[in-house]
Amino acid sequence: MTGKVYLVGSGPGDPELLTLKAKRLLENADVVLHDKLPGPELLASIPAEKREDVGKRAGGEWTPQEYTNRRLVELAEAGRTVVRLKGGDPFVFGRGGEEAEHLADHGIEFEYVPGITSAIAGPGVAGIPVTHRDHASSVSFVTGHEDPTKDESAIDWNALAKTGGTLVVLMGVGKLPMYTDELLSAGMSPETPVALIERATWPDQRLALGTLASIVDVRDAEGIEPPAITVIGEVAGTRKRIAAFLRNGTQSKATEE
Ligand code: SAH
Repeated sequence: MTGKVYLVGSGPGDPELLTLKAKRLLENADVVLHDKLPGPELLASIPAEKREDVGKRAGGEWTPQEYTNRRLVELAEAGRTVVRLKGGDPFVFGRGGEEAEHLADHGIEFEYVPGITSAIAGPGVAGIPVTHRDHASSVSFVTGHEDPTKDESAIDWNALAKTGGTLVVLMGVGKLPMYTDELLSAGMSPETPVALIERATWPDQRLALGTLASIVDVRDAEGIEPPAITVIGEVAGTRKRIAAFLRNGTQSKATEE
């Protein structure tokens, strides 16, 4: 009997933000393939003997995606019940689409189990609503780190600068200077509020605030590192009012406060 693969979203990291379905599947799985993105607390709650880390290997190299794809098929063909646990939602910038294609191509049954994406929850726990009736009627989710083998950027920063809506950049810590420059060149105001939310919902969540003109310096001064979400737009400036009475654990100590 062939097994089955569950592509499961872990949410941003707080174990209480798992779905009930994800929790049940994790309990019943024979094997859980994961990287570090589900966060230390959540990973610690899964028995070590069930876990296989397919994230960064010792030496800093990423496990090749081909290996993960192959391993999923191999385990399912051996009759195992496999959870492929992915940070946030499996189909938001996590290569979950590629894994689903690979499983389908190999005739392996799988189920997609949505998770709470860091793209929305990350800003939210820092007191930043990604849309707001007065400030943003649209939101765009963008990757800051495209496939390096692509010749040209598929991202039209110039067009994004003109949406007037919120921009949420994932994997956007390293390339922050590149895309803030692009947005400034496209005419976006240097005063546009920008927030960086590092390790959202993890025990050591941090928030750094600045503007389109200052955020690179803020990033460097604070030493913000991945995983972090970049939020660009007026909504990032609304948080002061909200955050005064926002109680998301001990989180969201803003650098400006
Ligand atoms: N599927 C994931 C995103 C995977 S891409 C999701 O839906 O959330 C990896 C990027 O996600 C990271 O570089 C970072 O930008 C973002 N990310 C994921 N979890 C995060 C967290 N807890 N805090 C801040 N950013 C996070």
